Amino acid sequence: MNGTKAVPAAAIAELRTQTRGELFAPGDPGYDEARSLWNAMHDLRPALVVRCADAADAVTAVNFARGLEIPVAVRGGGHNVSGSGSCDGGIQLDLSRLNRIDVNPTERTADVEAGATWGEFDQAAQAHGLATTGGICSRAGVADVTLGGGFGWLMRKHGLALDNMLSANVVTADGRMRTASPTENPDLYFGLRGSQSNLGIVTSFRYQLHPVGPLVVAGMVLHPIERGREVLRFYRDYTAAAADELSAWAAMLTSPDGHKMIAILACHVGPVEAGRGAVEPLRTFGPPVMDMIQPMPYVNAQSMIDQSFPSGRFNHWRSHLLSALGDELIDRLVDGFAAFASPFSSVLIEHLGGAMGRVPAGQTAFPHRSANYDVVIMPMWTDAAGSESHLRWADALWSAIQPFSTGGIYVNYLGDEGEEGVRAAYGSNYSRLAALKDKYDPGNLFRFNQNIKPNR
Ligand SMILES: Cc1cc2nc3c(=O)[nH]c(=O)nc-3n(C[C@H](O)[C@H](O)[C@H](O)COP(=O)(O)OP(=O)(O)OC[C@H]3O[C@@H](n4cnc5c(N)ncnc54)[C@H](O)[C@@H]3O)c2cc1C
Repeated sequence: MNGTKAVPAAAIAELRTQTRGELFAPGDPGYDEARSLWNAMHDLRPALVVRCADAADAVTAVNFARGLEIPVAVRGGGHNVSGSGSCDGGIQLDLSRLNRIDVNPTERTADVEAGATWGEFDQAAQAHGLATTGGICSRAGVADVTLGGGFGWLMRKHGLALDNMLSANVVTADGRMRTASPTENPDLYFGLRGSQSNLGIVTSFRYQLHPVGPLVVAGMVLHPIERGREVLRFYRDYTAAAADELSAWAAMLTSPDGHKMIAILACHVGPVEAGRGAVEPLRTFGPPVMDMIQPMPYVNAQSMIDQSFPSGRFNHWRSHLLSALGDELIDRLVDGFAAFASPFSSVLIEHLGGAMGRVPAGQTAFPHRSANYDVVIMPMWTDAAGSESHLRWADALWSAIQPFSTGGIYVNYLGDEGEEGVRAAYGSNYSRLAALKDKYDPGNLFRFNQNIKPNR
């Protein structure tokens, strides 16, 4: 199998009669829109896009692809920085029309089709005063945020998105629709929670929900970058003492009026009065030059960074999981940020721990339970011609802080870091996942991901 095989026109014509969704071949109206991804670094041209109308279309498309020996990419929200939601020459399954969300407020569960975005899911769940851990970008897909991990404002209180996945319906490479849950295909249930699309295509999830909001205390404070070291040391102490309801992330960035700043973004997911108390140190330290923390709807806290990450710009991410934020690491981060080459570039530090850290490393395929922070170096730029300098900046800063890394990397923040990156992402669970790959996808039909190679 290779990724560049053409799909015969006669086969496409036959597939049209077997699916209820839409097909887009190169040259078809809608093809370019269907193949477009958030990250402009990846201008990929699949041999065929199948926009599924239902789960049955996904089964048909997988059987079709396997029959022709053409690999399959799956597009959820299309936001993965690596561009793995599409492919060159293979078949791209587009699940964006599968976005039905059914909330059961009595059971506090939600059945969510895999093409839904976090914005859609949060809105549906918040209509009942409920939510589950999800990514802090309303346009990102529920699918891969969940299948890779799922960092978000609720993770310290309720675990990762994947810890709240009660079950999933999955099309495996043999074209069978299976349910993965603690009682049905438990090995698949283990593996799906952390291995992206390596084991199959999820068509729907069932999630555990929790009472949240509707108002939470959230927002950000800003300080001049000249105070970067001081702010990060404060941030380290503040996060170390935080209750599970509180998450605070630090970001070095450029303000819209061109000033380099350091921000602390925070969200307290408990009652508003408790939230006001918990964020008080953030408002008094410094004091900040700007304070935008206030009670706000949880759905707004979930889309706080949307505007800063528009589709169609060039992006390249490098990240490390960390145990601690030592003084020397802080120095290197602040010094490294100063050399950035685009006003859209940033360095983000996410605070982990709490409930997500109390899950045993072997319980799900996501192994990095003991990491306390994740640092993400995120150059973003608008002109392809300058790409080289932005990549160099990120790679240099990544190397400078590597001695402080746990050695692990969050799979959803990987770009193309090769086999070494893949092994760093799956860590101690790699060999167990490789055995599952042998069982569920021995031909590596699903290879457009941080790929676990089958042994056979
Ligand atoms: C602006 C921005 C903010 C972000 N914020 C967060 C955050 O707060 N927390 C966090 O944890 N992550 C965050 N991320 C990272 C996010 O987890 C990844 O980008 C993730 O891949 C997005 O999911 P998607 O469905 O949009 O991915 P896509 O690009 O559509 O797909 C990426 C991968 O997922 C696989 N996949 C997609 N759908 C399915 C499916 N139904 N079944 C099986 N495999 C599938 C694909 O095969 C592919 O390998 C953010 C990303 C961006 C760009």
